[in-house]
Amino acid sequence: MAKPSRATECPKCCSTDLGKANQTGYGAVYPPNKMSLGSDVEHIMCTDCGLIIESYVKKPEKFKNTL
Ligand SMILES: [Zn+2]
Repeated sequence: MAKPSRATECPKCCSTDLGKANQTGYGAVYPPNKMSLGSDVEHIMCTDCGLIIESYVKKPEKFKNTL
């Protein structure tokens, strides 16, 4: 299966000037009942209007079998 392509254009203002932001520390997300296994989140954002277009958990495998 091909990897999904990342956003290249802002859906709000149509700017192609996108940036990447890393969210760490208290912004990390955690699987329920496994607070010690948190993962940082990476955002793809528009550097013109500030919209966060996509967000990725950096270690999604930590969240398998949590439902
Ligand atoms: Zn924008």
